[in-house]
Amino acid sequence: SNDILSIINLRTYFPVKTSQGKDVFVKAVDGVNLKVERGEVLGVVGESGSGKSTIAYTVMGMYKPTGGKILFHGQDISILSSKRPLLLKKDLQIVFQDPGSSLNIYQDIKQILELPLKVHKIVNKNQIKEKIISLLQMVELSESYLHKSPVAMGGGERQMVSIARALACEPRFIILDEPTSALDVSIQAKIINMLLKLQREKQLTYMFITHDLSLMRNIATRVAIMYLGKICEIAKTNEFFSKPLHPYTRMLLSSIPVVSEEEEAFKPKKIKSTGEIPSPVNIPSGCSFHLRCPERTELCYKEEPTTVEVVPGHFVRCHLYQGMKLQGEIAGIGDG
Ligand code: SF4
Ligand code: MG
Repeated sequence: SNDILSIINLRTYFPVKTSQGKDVFVKAVDGVNLKVERGEVLGVVGESGSGKSTIAYTVMGMYKPTGGKILFHGQDISILSSKRPLLLKKDLQIVFQDPGSSLNIYQDIKQILELPLKVHKIVNKNQIKEKIISLLQMVELSESYLHKSPVAMGGGERQMVSIARALACEPRFIILDEPTSALDVSIQAKIINMLLKLQREKQLTYMFITHDLSLMRNIATRVAIMYLGKICEIAKTNEFFSKPLHPYTRMLLSSIPVVSEEEEAFKPKKIKSTGEIPSPVNIPSGCSFHLRCPERTELCYKEEPTTVEVVPGHFVRCHLYQGMKLQGEIAGIGDG
């Protein structure tokens, strides 16, 4: 199959105590189906608390899923990272949002980049220095960075080192968890362009997690929108931006500032949100978006919508489209 990663009915719940002392679960990820195809950039977009980072960390094996499956190259990896074979870990890398806390400040750049090369035996001992220099070149840093400490570097440079570290293992798949949102605007475009160049050159596959929907317009192959642990809509990027279907997607798009008149014509009418984001501890009944939805009906309070494929490759989870179901529940991507 052409899928590198298949996430099937994934659930990641965390036990918490309420202020009244009751034991409940935060359903951070609750029944997610998602496939990532070889060579694509899949944008996963959501507000904070939507569960997008939890998906990333579960795929990375930092959390054990409560239910469902994660297949990587067809192999079930629904286990903690510590139990995964080394070869599998090599092929699946992540770049975190905050390069400051993900780099060891007691090591210099050479030591930071050396570690994955040694652990995964990427090159012979006598080729390590040369390999580290080539990794630095890939992220446009000179040899003079070898003995620098992350502390002596700017946020952008630190993120470049994090990217080099992810590339050190020569992975085919990288999760980017808001890789630029902690950085100055001036450095964001540079990092994004670098990531895209590397993706093309090395034929990498990215899962790009972000809260910035407009950023995905020029970067993503497909876009998925998350809300309170579930995916609301997923489509190819062109289709997604020209024919948004889910009321939440339309709400997000209506808050993106657009420039050209042509784009203005495509922009959905301004929609007023009617509520705040509810907490994932207390997920509303029926469609979890109903508190904020300008198009809700009585059905939305009572019944959860299922995911339907409205046109090939365009999936939406909303009662407004239930009648437009293409071919019933689509194999492997319908709600589990
Ligand atoms: Fe809005 Fe109802 Fe659709 Fe939910 S199911 S997004 S409440 S119209
Ligand atoms: Mg996050």
